[in-house]
Amino acid sequence: MNFESLKLSCKGQLVLPDNPQYDEARKVYNAMIDKHPAAILFCQDEEDVKHGILFAKENKLDLAIRGGGHNGAGLGTCDAGLVLDMSPMKQIEIDSDNKTAKVQAGCTLGEVDKATHEHGLMVPGGIISTTGIAGLTLGGGIGYFTRKLGLTIDNLLGARVVLANGQIVNCNAIQHPDLFWAIRGGGGNFGVVVQFAFKLSPISIVHAGPMFWELEDAKEVMKFFDRFTKEADIDLYGFFAFLVVPPGDPFPKHLHNKKVCGIVWNYTGPAQRVEEVYQPIRDFKKPIFDLIMEIPVPGLNSLFDDLYPAGYQWYWKAHYINELTDACIDTNISFGETLPSLHSTTHFYPIDGKVHQMASDETAWVNRDNRWVQVIVGVDPEPVNKEKVTNWCRSYYDAMIPFAIKGAYVNFMMKEGEERIRSSYRENYDKLVGIKTKYDPDNIFHINQNIKPS
Ligand SMILES: Cc1cc2nc3c(=O)[nH]c(=O)nc-3n(C[C@H](O)[C@H](O)[C@H](O)COP(=O)(O)OP(=O)(O)OC[C@H]3O[C@@H](n4cnc5c(N)ncnc54)[C@H](O)[C@@H]3O)c2cc1C
Repeated sequence: MNFESLKLSCKGQLVLPDNPQYDEARKVYNAMIDKHPAAILFCQDEEDVKHGILFAKENKLDLAIRGGGHNGAGLGTCDAGLVLDMSPMKQIEIDSDNKTAKVQAGCTLGEVDKATHEHGLMVPGGIISTTGIAGLTLGGGIGYFTRKLGLTIDNLLGARVVLANGQIVNCNAIQHPDLFWAIRGGGGNFGVVVQFAFKLSPISIVHAGPMFWELEDAKEVMKFFDRFTKEADIDLYGFFAFLVVPPGDPFPKHLHNKKVCGIVWNYTGPAQRVEEVYQPIRDFKKPIFDLIMEIPVPGLNSLFDDLYPAGYQWYWKAHYINELTDACIDTNISFGETLPSLHSTTHFYPIDGKVHQMASDETAWVNRDNRWVQVIVGVDPEPVNKEKVTNWCRSYYDAMIPFAIKGAYVNFMMKEGEERIRSSYRENYDKLVGIKTKYDPDNIFHINQNIKPS
């Protein structure tokens, strides 16, 4: 394949397999993914994106779009095709008077957090700051502020998109509203987003952090978590986890490498209410570790970054869960007791509060009637442990099927087949197929959780 014409038409660097940077350039976050693209174009602007799309189309090349490269299934890259890497596009413009931000698609969550925090503002993202804003937003976006502010897409005002035919359009409530509806949860199926416009919220400092309890107390803790968070203040968010305590600061030595259960909290309400809000939790059962602290939003959103650097073996799957029955809790405990590595975990992320206040057909993201997304994560630094963490994750996922609500979340999926993609969108699926057929009839954008045109 001759890439000369693409190279000449673009400002960004084009990395081919004979380039010494190629092996570094083709890496993605999950080390289980080892793809060899024909070329990687580091896009400098929307014109580069357009040239890339048209070149791939003309030459019948697979086209992958890479934001932060964090996708578990490795959908930001491909074999033998063209990868459009958005990472050079990192401009962020903040309008602090109107509390809005324009964010280019190559930013990570950490970069967005840092820029908005300087103005005392924020947009809700995810819990690891190295994740790409693009993939996270297009799939929905769940994090510490979901109960209070909704999903990341619920804070999206519009986007600028390069379409399959090379046209560059703005979409929002007025312009291309069908496209705007579809990209809020429908992933990268409809075009390449080059810029997002977000509504910002004036939250700067929160009172947040983990509390741990003994594994033997997990049943009681899970029941408490279920009961307590149902009625909890909208300003209080907590995700439940089974985890292995990392061997290092700030954890006391006697807890290092110990399997525990815990809840990571985030309270966004007034400082004078902090003690009052956390007291009933401490009264329920004194935690063996309690690190609620005053912390800036970017600090909270990067609290666990060091535990999850790029380059580890990563396998994960997720369920929607609405109820923690005795049998469901017992099943969870049996897998919590057998966590296969320091980095493997399960989290129950709340998707209630503000998320439930929108109808399930208001955006492509449909699962607004569920209580938690349970993500089951098998992770280890060593390739030799790949099977071990994968098998644990798969068995845990299978054992939870009887307790799960049918449905999937595309951001927490591996390649799991067409039925799981359909169930991610339920009654919104047919509308998405119609929009896909209108904007990408030839399925140029198919390296994703693919919605096929009719
Ligand atoms: C450590 C870690 C923590 C995470 N935490 C959370 C979390 O707290 N909450 C949550 O909701 N999710 C979370 N995720 C999941 C994450 O949202 C998804 O993996 C998401 O796909 C990552 O986006 P990315 O841009 O980094 O990925 P990439 O691999 O670059 O891309 C992912 C998908 O998005 C598409 N895409 C990327 N950029 C664009 C673009 N500009 N235009 C169109 N399509 C594009 C790609 O084609 C691909 O299909 C986490 C993932 C990891 C690995």
